[in-house]
This record gives sequence, structure tokens and C-alpha cells, in this order.
Amino acid sequence: MLVNRSNAQPFLMITQEEAVARILSHMRPLPARSVELADALDCFAARDISAALSLPLFDNSSMDGYAVVATSCKVGARLRLVGEQPAGVDRELSINPGEAIRILTGAPMPAGADAVVMQEETRIDGEHVVLTEEVEPGENVRRRGGDVAEGQKLIEAGDQIGPQMLALLAAQGIGSLEVGGRVRAAIISTGDELIPPGATLRPGLIYDSNSVLLQALLTESNVSVASIARCADDAQAIEAAIRAATACDVMIITGGVSVGARDLVKPALTAIGATLDLWRVAVKPGKPFLFGHAGRCAIFGLPGNLVSAFVTFLLFVRPALLRLKGAKEAALGLSEIPARLGAAVANDSERAHYMRGRLSSGTFSIAGCQESHAVFGLSRSNALLRVRPGEQIAAGAEVTALIWD
Ligand code: AMP
Ligand code: MG
Repeated sequence: MLVNRSNAQPFLMITQEEAVARILSHMRPLPARSVELADALDCFAARDISAALSLPLFDNSSMDGYAVVATSCKVGARLRLVGEQPAGVDRELSINPGEAIRILTGAPMPAGADAVVMQEETRIDGEHVVLTEEVEPGENVRRRGGDVAEGQKLIEAGDQIGPQMLALLAAQGIGSLEVGGRVRAAIISTGDELIPPGATLRPGLIYDSNSVLLQALLTESNVSVASIARCADDAQAIEAAIRAATACDVMIITGGVSVGARDLVKPALTAIGATLDLWRVAVKPGKPFLFGHAGRCAIFGLPGNLVSAFVTFLLFVRPALLRLKGAKEAALGLSEIPARLGAAVANDSERAHYMRGRLSSGTFSIAGCQESHAVFGLSRSNALLRVRPGEQIAAGAEVTALIWD
């Protein structure tokens, strides 16, 4: 039974795997768009791209020196200098055995030449070049197509475009390409106790750190943050903020998703006609996580504690964003890195515990206090460790650290 209109009657708690599967079943890649090359950085290719050109584009010299016919190039050979071939123009020169053409790095090879002798391995004697070293056929020549063959696949649909791939596309003369759509997200943080960083504290208030965390995580994920709302625990205010946020592809709400009397997010979702697809997942921290949707807007409700919000973002929101952006299926999970455990850990809860820690030189060490409100340890972490219910892991054991970069 999925649809549940009562705040008091709980949904069945489900596993992380089932929650991810249900969330992803609602996610379709956004329509692709064409962008200028430089704007494609970190986007996901919408289609395969094959080479239209061979690289190098033409046979050319990898050195400043002299183009020669290798068979006429014993040590001490005197070659007659018959021309000069700079880069950037093809003078369509040609040579015969016993001749040399001055050539610069990147310049097209003259017809008949099969090697380039480095400038440092010659001396000039009037109109002649005298060789001080042997030259092999093919030496210092970069052959057309030696790097990339025409028709070769360069990028697959769903590959994330990094700086090196951009350079490859540029070398192909590609000025724009089709990438996955840009996700627009709204952030709503809820809680009577929240004030923005920089505001004056009063007793009982705390600073809203979740919306700062989420804005940064979304920005780092190349998602456009369309709005950030901070709401008191007030049904009408929360409903209004949620209704406005349904214009986005994704909304992320923090706080107010648990079982307290002031946890008003679920009733607000019901009131605006959203569907609640799941609530409560067997992970620690993050149990009260919820997911729902309103039209095409995916709705994530993260628990208010900062660490819970962070962990549930990585486990549930991140794969959804990647799917929307057009990433390959295999890239949706966190990356697994083998590591040694610094100090023993144990999980006496019935939920999988995602412990936060630091992966450094192959060792994963728990960072700081592991309570779900503890922000300092989180600020030092760069990896998670999943500890199964009831599991104890000894110091020095081989574990799998999970990273998100
Ligand atoms: P809740 O999920 O609303 O019950 O909140 C759980 C805990 O997280 C409470 O201690 C809240 O004060 C805290 N909390 C909720 N929202 C935020 C936020 N935006 N920034 C920092 N802490 C928060
Ligand atoms: Mg609250």
C-alpha cells in the first residue's frame, strides 16, 4: 500500500536498494540540448560521437629539424638544403635522396621525405646540412590517423564530458554538441528554529546549514538551483513553498519528514495533490527519508539533521540527478575504493550504517563523532563506509570505501 494520507499511520520501512529502484523508476533523462563546446563541461553526452577526421590530420614533423630520405642519411652525410616548410601552410614541397628541407614542428611532411632529423643532430655547412647521427625511416614523423582513425568512436552516450574530452572534440573541429538536459532544482528547508547564517541568534534558534549544504552539492552536480526557501513549521507556508517548487524538475525539502507533531511535510504533500511513493528507508542515518512526485517534479524529503541530509542526498538524490542528466546506468552508484580500516567499527542497529570518514593513502578512518547532527566530522570526511546490521569489522580489515567525486 503506497498512497498514505495519514501522517500517523506509517509506511513500511523498505531497503535502500528498493528505495533507489523505486526512485529511478520515476526518472527519465531530460530532453537533450545543444550547447557550445565550452558549456558542455561536466555534462553527459546525449549521443555517441565518432571521429569525422583522422588525427593527426596529415603526416607532420614532431621536431624542428630537416625532412630527409632516411636511406641517404648515414652519419656524416652531406645533404643539399632545397627548401623550408613552416607550420600552418603546405608548400607542397618534395625531395630526393641526398636532399634536406628545413622543417618546423607540426609542419606537413614534404613528398618523398620519410624522416626528420632533429636540428640538434646536424650542423650547417654553407648550402648543406651535415648529419651527426643516424636517422631511421619514420623517425620524428607523426603519421596521419596514427592517433585517431576516421570513424573511430570517441565518446559514448552517457559519458561525462571532462576537460580532456572537450580537447578531443575541439581537435575534431566540433564547436557544439548534444548533451543531457539541465536539471532545475528547488530547495526548501523547514523548521521554526532556523535562521540564515549571518542573522542574530536568539535562544533556541540555530543556523540553517542544510540549505547551504544542498545548494553546494547541487551546484557541484551541475544542477541549476532555481530557488531556496526557508519555511517555519507552518502548514500553509510549507504548502505554498512546495506548490511553487513543483515548477522545477526536482525539489529537495529538509526537515519535517519525521513523526513529530511539527513534521508537516507529508500532510503538505498530500494537500497539494502530490503522490508519496515511499517513506522510511532502512539506512542510518536517514531513516525518515521520503520520496514522492507531483506531475514531473520529483520530490525528495530529507531528514533535518545535517548528516542525515548529506547521506540521503548521496544515496537517493544523487542517482536520480544523474539519471535526469543522462548519465550511464553504471555511473549512478557511488564509486567503490578498496581500503584498510583504521580502527574497528560495529553496527548494532538494524539498519545499514553509513559511517563518515576519511580515505587517505588507502586507509579509511572514521571522522569525528558519528551522530547524525555532528557537523565537524562530516566536514572532514571524503568517503563513506557501509556497515551492515549487526556487522563488526576489525581494525586493519579490507573494506570498500565509497566516494562521490
Ligand atoms: P527534523 O527532521 O525537522 O525533525 O529536524 C531534525 C534535526 O535537524 C533538528 O535538530 C533540527 O533542528 C535540525 N535541522 C532541521 N533543519 C535544519 C537545517 N536546515 N539546518 C540545520 N539543522 C537543521
Ligand atoms: Mg523540524
